[in-house]
Amino acid sequence: MPNKPYFLENKISDDNMIQMTNSSLQKKIFTESEIVKELRKLAQDFEGKIVYSTSFGFEAQVITHLIFSHHIPIKIFTIDTGRLFKETLELKNQMEAHYGKEIKVYSPEMEEVSQLELEKGLFSFYESVENRKECCHIRKVKPLNKALQGVDCWITGIRSEQSLNRQQMQQLEWNEKHHLFKFHPLFYWSEEQVKAFAQKNELLYNPLHDKNFPSIGCEPCTRAIKSGENHRAGRWWWETGSVKECGLHQ
Ligand code: SF4
Repeated sequence: MPNKPYFLENKISDDNMIQMTNSSLQKKIFTESEIVKELRKLAQDFEGKIVYSTSFGFEAQVITHLIFSHHIPIKIFTIDTGRLFKETLELKNQMEAHYGKEIKVYSPEMEEVSQLELEKGLFSFYESVENRKECCHIRKVKPLNKALQGVDCWITGIRSEQSLNRQQMQQLEWNEKHHLFKFHPLFYWSEEQVKAFAQKNELLYNPLHDKNFPSIGCEPCTRAIKSGENHRAGRWWWETGSVKECGLHQ
C-alpha cells in the first residue's frame, strides 16, 4: 500500500486500519463542509496522486462542484466510451465553461473498438453477458486503467443504496486491483439529499435525469426506469441475474 499518513484522523497502514476507520465511521453521512475538509486533507496527503472520476450523474455533479468551487487540487477525469448520450457530452463542455476548469478525457483504443465491431458488429453487447463485458472492458475498463496509473487515491460518487452490489462496498476501501484507496464521500447520502443539494446550489445536471434516467451510461445500454424500479434498473436492462456493473468498480 502507498505509505500515506492520515485519513479521518486515523493512520492508514493496513487492512485492519481500514476496517477500524470504516467501523468508526458508523455509516457516517458526511456534511458538505466535512466532505470539503476530508477532500482537502486527502489532496494534501496524496498530493498529485489523487483523482476523481465523473460520469456526470447527480452525485458526480455534487462532488465536482465541491472540488472545483473550493479549488481542491484533485484531478477530475471522465471516460468517453464513444457511445455516450449527446446530453452527457454537452454537459461536460458546460461544466468546463462554468467552472473554468478542465475535465480530462480518457478514450478507448480505436483499433480495439474497430476490431470488436468488425468481428462482432455494433451491438454485440445485447447478445450475451460475455459480449457486454468485453465491450465494457475495451471501452471503459482499459481507459480507466490508464487513468489510474500512478494514482494512490480514487474518489468516486458511489452511493450505497444505488444497488445491492454497492451495499457490499465500504465507504473507504483498499483496491488491490489498482493498488489504491477508494473513498466514496456520498456513500450514505440518499437520492433525496443529493437532489436537494443540487437544487439548492443550482448545479448543472444531465437533462436525461428529468426523463427518468437516474443512472446514465452509454446510450445503447441505458433506458429510462419505470415507477418502482431501482436506481440502476435502466442499465443493461435486458440482462437478468448479472451484477449491473461495467467492471469499473469491481
Ligand atoms: S455500457 Fe454498453 S456500449 Fe458502453 S461500454 Fe458497456 S457494453 Fe459497451
